[in-house]
Amino acid sequence: MSGSKSRRMTRNQGDTPLMRQYNEIKSKYPHAVLLFRVGDFYETFGEDAIKISKILGIVLTKRNTGFPSETELAGFPFHSLNTYLPKLVNTGCRVAICEQLEEPRKDRKIVKRGVVDLVTPGIRFDDNTLERNEHNFLASIYYGKKLGIALLDIAVGSFLVSEGSEEAIIQLLGKINPSEVIIPKPQKEKFSKTFGARYHYQALMDWSFELDTARSTLKEQFQTHGLEGFGIHEMEEAIRASGAVLHYLKENHQNKLQHITRIQKIDDSEYLSLDLFTLKNLEIFSPTTIGGIALIDVIDHTKTPMGARMIRNWLRFPLKNIKQIERRHLLVKEFSENQSLQEETRDQLEQISDVERSVSKIATGKITPRQLVHLSKSLSIFLKIREIIIKSKTEHIKSLFSRWKNPSSIIEMIEKALMVDPSQSVAKGDVMADGFNDELDELRSLRTSVDDRLKQMLQLEIERTKIPNLKISFNQVIGYFFEIRNTHVDKVPDHWIRKQSLVNVSRFVDQDLKEFEEKILNSQEQIQQLESALYDGFINSLSPEIEILLNNAELFATLDCLANFAYVALKNDYIQPEINSGSVIDLRGARHPVIEIQLELGTPFISNDILIDKEKQQIIMITGPNMSGKSAILRQTALICLLSQAGSFIPATVATLPIVDKIFTRVGASDNISIGASTFMVEMNETAFILNNLTEKSLILLDEIGRGTSTYDGISIAWAITNYLHEHPYKPWVLFATHYHELNAIANNLNRVKNYNVSVKEGKDNVIFLRRLVPGGSAHSFGIHVAKMAGLPKYVIDLAKEKLELMEQEQPSDRVHGKSAQLGVQLTLFEPDNPKLKLLRETISKINIDNITPIESLLLLSELRKKVLEILSE
Ligand code: ADP
Repeated sequence: MSGSKSRRMTRNQGDTPLMRQYNEIKSKYPHAVLLFRVGDFYETFGEDAIKISKILGIVLTKRNTGFPSETELAGFPFHSLNTYLPKLVNTGCRVAICEQLEEPRKDRKIVKRGVVDLVTPGIRFDDNTLERNEHNFLASIYYGKKLGIALLDIAVGSFLVSEGSEEAIIQLLGKINPSEVIIPKPQKEKFSKTFGARYHYQALMDWSFELDTARSTLKEQFQTHGLEGFGIHEMEEAIRASGAVLHYLKENHQNKLQHITRIQKIDDSEYLSLDLFTLKNLEIFSPTTIGGIALIDVIDHTKTPMGARMIRNWLRFPLKNIKQIERRHLLVKEFSENQSLQEETRDQLEQISDVERSVSKIATGKITPRQLVHLSKSLSIFLKIREIIIKSKTEHIKSLFSRWKNPSSIIEMIEKALMVDPSQSVAKGDVMADGFNDELDELRSLRTSVDDRLKQMLQLEIERTKIPNLKISFNQVIGYFFEIRNTHVDKVPDHWIRKQSLVNVSRFVDQDLKEFEEKILNSQEQIQQLESALYDGFINSLSPEIEILLNNAELFATLDCLANFAYVALKNDYIQPEINSGSVIDLRGARHPVIEIQLELGTPFISNDILIDKEKQQIIMITGPNMSGKSAILRQTALICLLSQAGSFIPATVATLPIVDKIFTRVGASDNISIGASTFMVEMNETAFILNNLTEKSLILLDEIGRGTSTYDGISIAWAITNYLHEHPYKPWVLFATHYHELNAIANNLNRVKNYNVSVKEGKDNVIFLRRLVPGGSAHSFGIHVAKMAGLPKYVIDLAKEKLELMEQEQPSDRVHGKSAQLGVQLTLFEPDNPKLKLLRETISKINIDNITPIESLLLLSELRKKVLEILSE
């Protein structure tokens, strides 16, 4: 049966050639869902059908399809592939797409079919299933003495490796977020224990990770004698993991990998370390609240997909090398000072396609003729941009072209080979340019002459038969035929054979017409086959140009990011920071890059000066009521350091920054509820992580630490942590925000702790947030004011005020005075919620001094003494 457009025809077949063909293909892809193209549908059978009907929510039917018993069937129209394929892959399915490889013809029993693509979560090329701005990594993990990891984005040929502790690999994986992970079968349990069901994974046979095989597979891939050139030769676990990646690709029929030209080591020591919690908490890539804005939304206005992916990597892995950071700043400065250059570059970049992903499609032979033409256009734009830059007065931007590889020859090759506006797919013909191949030109002229001949035939028949409106048409069932209106059937010559009778028209053929048909079909098929072969050959001939293409893609992505930073700096009024190797973070007029954009029109963002100096002002204790702007100050400081080290300008008026090597942030449990980690235990685990991993160049933000437990516990823990950070020989930079104004007392004992508060203007019943960071601690927590502003009932507010006054009379204000031994005692005594204390108070208040006998009073005294001792011993 042919690949007819009718779906029903496929469903009632006996033991048909179609099902035999299906079974044969399916047997080669037992672990994948096979989407089997039949006419205008992709069909699935049996287990595959059950699976996809569940995932896609499409109808599952049972038909006799030629299997011994009935089999399940589910399918969807071919044009829905773009909608359904990502859904299947994102749930972890491996999908083999089987297409009709030739046009159906009435003289063909069955069209040729074959799998043209095998897609797994980690092996994807198709733009429709990939996110434009993000890499799509396949990861491979091997547990040895250390953990080895390899990461491949096959759609751009980016191959990375690293080794480290389990914690380091968890952090790396969390940042990269691979869509599929491969592991050795025997290590499955270990992997599941650490990562649970977080990643789609495949467990491969142990030998896929064998060291010697891995080494030789890698050497073969890169055509090198050893792996020294990549600096990874001693990384045994990483080599095993990388070898397994290449093995897995082959297993999945991915053999064309010329675009994977190198393997790079991710060296932790080169980048500012941001743990996963910090990335989340600083809302760098995604906001923690629905409808919020992430830093990336403010910073990324790149024009190309390559630029968008690169800028994400720059933010994910900010630099630590002062020279490299300064170089990026210089480049951004040049783009800022040459605004027209920046604008022109960005305007041009806007028109280019995803050159990086086109490269992998060339290597794998998946590129369509139109994509090739877009690639060529993009390369011409590259040339234009280069010209603009070379003519400009810049120094550093120009120098980026010193190792540029000119792509002119590739443009020329494509222009010569392809038509200006080729068909979408080679199967449709009209792809290769005239003059590219003599044989093709000849066949094409033959086709034109056959067309002319058909016209002549028609003319002749009209004259001969005198049938007005006689037509020669074509369809799949009859082929070429004469069509006449039924009112003229009496004029039909005897030698015409009737093929079809419709209401108004009848269709006939004759010997001559059939002979021509044969010729035409043959020549068309010949043209199609030849064009296909020529196109494949042409793509192959582009393989040696892959290096040039990758070089261009990377350079123009870099330009995109730099011009973007300049654009954002001008748009949002950022400045170039001065970087030094000193010990002072000195920010004047600093702003929060995201909040300043989110504020309602007319509400100004209040900028602040922040000075953290290891020697004199190492720990800044910021007090102030809730909602006054403490977190904003903490976060803006971290975001500014991060932006600067990513190469961007920053939201401030003057800035001197040291190189930070780690940013840690911890948020008090109740502030953290929105991201699902609400327990005090989590908060303490994370604080322990900071205290155990801090370095001399760490910036630590502690926001309301200790809030997840009772007031006194919280204050004590915050007090002890501050002490620890102050006494630590590394003296990390610390910003501590708290609404416990009691913590201000710490500064009396620790000389590098300085109190600041976010000022508020106190009205009779409310507070106005001034948002200014000023020296000194705040007098109280203003919790009741804030509660009132939030609209709590008057009754509650009044009662709270009364209670507060009562407690303030009862307690000395300097509860936290730095003497740890006494702290616990005092806190217990003044714990207002302690039920025993309440009982004690009630007992005392009920004593009627006038009526008590001496014996009674002694007994009562003894009872009271017992109760007090009980409370104190808690
Ligand atoms: P806190 O940590 O003290 O509870 P936040 O830092 O979360 O307060 O700030 C609360 C809100 O106040 C922010 O969401 C923002 O809308 C606003 N805000 C904070 N800082 C400023 C500022 N400097 N200028 C203007 N608005 C600000």
